[in-house]
Amino acid sequence: MQTLLSAQRDAEEDRTMTAYDDQNIFAKILRDEIPSMRVYEDDDTLCFMDIMPRADGHCLVIPKTPCRNVLDASDAQLAAVMATVKKVANAAMAGLEADGITIQQFNEAPGGQEVFHLHFHILPRHEGVSLRAPGQMGDMEQIKAISEKISAAL
Ligand code: AMP
Repeated sequence: MQTLLSAQRDAEEDRTMTAYDDQNIFAKILRDEIPSMRVYEDDDTLCFMDIMPRADGHCLVIPKTPCRNVLDASDAQLAAVMATVKKVANAAMAGLEADGITIQQFNEAPGGQEVFHLHFHILPRHEGVSLRAPGQMGDMEQIKAISEKISAAL
């Protein structure tokens, strides 16, 4: 018979665990069903440009295997993604002559997440330049040119 404690645990899992949906936009990018500007990839991770950049060089790092966010990611997925974040962040520092890097990561809608495949934002920063407002489509040619500068520094 289920105890009160185990029933409570089940209820908590129902509340916090939402299944991964393989129709999310980043899963489609991984399957090449929609286009992306790829900056870097290895066996476990992909980095591509954000099409609504809040800073020049704004890009996203994702695992190639499914998980919604940090809350359900395996340690191996997190380790692989963070290694790529570090690699691309250093390339952005060099290739864009950035003064710093902001890393952002959101979990579930109340935490600010909009696309439910784990991703880390890499936002190259220049002294005195604020982040742009979210949700503004960038100039694709300009984003492409910036992505090539990051790739060249990898
Ligand atoms: P969030 O889930 O809040 O961390 O943000 C999702 C990010 O994905 C936003 O910065 C969007 O600009 C970005 N984004 C949405 N669709 C695409 C796409 N097709 N290609 C590249 N970036 C995207």
